[in-house]
Amino acid sequence: MQQVFGPKELLEDVFQNDLCIGCGACVELCPYFKNYQGKTAQLFPCDLSQGRCYAYCPKAEVNLNELSNHIWGLPYDGSPLGNCRKVLASRAGKKIKETSYQAGGTVSALIIYALKKGLIEAAALTDREGLNPVARLVTSPDEVMKCSTSKFMASPTLSAINTGMREGYTRIGVVGTPCQLTAVAQMRVNPLDQEDFVDPVALTVGLFCNWALDTRQLMPLLSEKLDISTIQSMDIPPPPANMMVLETDSGKVEIPLSEIKPLIPHTCFICPDMTSEFSDVSVGMFEGRPGWNTLIIRSQKGAALVEKACKDEILETEKMPEENLNHLSKAAADKKENALRTLIRRELINTEKKNQRCAVRIPPEVVQKILR
Ligand SMILES: Cc1cc2nc3c(=O)[nH]c(=O)nc-3n(C[C@H](O)[C@H](O)[C@H](O)COP(=O)(O)OP(=O)(O)OC[C@H]3O[C@@H](n4cnc5c(N)ncnc54)[C@H](O)[C@@H]3O)c2cc1C
Ligand code: SF4
Ligand code: SF4
Repeated sequence: MQQVFGPKELLEDVFQNDLCIGCGACVELCPYFKNYQGKTAQLFPCDLSQGRCYAYCPKAEVNLNELSNHIWGLPYDGSPLGNCRKVLASRAGKKIKETSYQAGGTVSALIIYALKKGLIEAAALTDREGLNPVARLVTSPDEVMKCSTSKFMASPTLSAINTGMREGYTRIGVVGTPCQLTAVAQMRVNPLDQEDFVDPVALTVGLFCNWALDTRQLMPLLSEKLDISTIQSMDIPPPPANMMVLETDSGKVEIPLSEIKPLIPHTCFICPDMTSEFSDVSVGMFEGRPGWNTLIIRSQKGAALVEKACKDEILETEKMPEENLNHLSKAAADKKENALRTLIRRELINTEKKNQRCAVRIPPEVVQKILR
């Protein structure tokens, strides 16, 4: 069983070790944890010995074998892409209104379709206020469109699930990064064995992610170069571009990644998941084919949703070329291996000493397999 502690241990293990990614899973659960400009903080002390804040956190005592058994009915095997039925190329279909998506619009199209078909009643998405990514609980296609495009900063998106539960929603869709989808998987395990537990999540759409930026550090860097209130969208095109590209009211601004990368929170370097392995479907860019996505179908629910969306021309899919698939697997395997080396170096994995807690637990034979 996953070990669950309380807010005191959350502060020691996550905040004091600078591991918090500001995912929002502990925000809006109680009056104490709040997020401001991407940073989560505890406003008042709390002495609960076990709390949902610790149980949901994707940076504290995450037992990947237990999660995998719960979500997939299979042990965690450390394979680069996780549990996966099919990998396709995809983009929004003819019946979806043209708007500005990050890539092919697969994410927005699937969420709109799930809302229209009643699979979900609401979705936890990420909007932007100025440069700040903010959590948004949405219920209409127009609101989904408004949240489209990537904000390449860590975002407290998951607080929208907690808000949604308080408002009585029982079928919530969520779009998030791999760390966020790990937290969502932990929410669904009912880690505190609550008798009245209801799984509030009806659809999980994961994003690919290698790293995110710290908003509070990005703001001053961008403010030196442009008026951040004029930013319309941002992109980090695949290699060899090596740039962050900002569309502003007065045109494009390009910033070399060498200036941006120092703003990656250290906690991204202990993150072993590139493709949101605990999701119904995962979506990323399609390298070399702008306007398209890479789509990983993982669950039966995800497969059925994609099939119906294609039939109704909400989504369009094509075969994924073998070469792209190999490249994707290699990138995901590299991220896992690098993360494990950092976790081992920082003694944040599989600690066995009494009373010593850790960030991640992975069966030792799987650790060896990942380290190749
Ligand atoms: C921090 C970050 C890093 C990423 N890194 C990679 C990568 O390394 N490789 C890759 O292939 N793809 C990466 N992506 C995913 C990629 O940018 C696109 O989001 C994805 O391809 C979906 O495209 P789309 O056109 O279907 O999205 P759209 O239809 O435009 O929808 C985008 C969705 O992303 C959600 N979103 C936006 N910002 C955030 C955020 N900060 N946190 C959580 N959810 C958010 C919105 O709610 C929206 O639903 C990253 C995304 C983010 C947010
Ligand atoms: S749950 Fe998310 S926001 Fe809360 S401490 Fe953990 S990483 Fe930070
Ligand atoms: S690299 Fe991992 S920890 Fe960092 S934002 Fe992406 S999913 Fe979260």
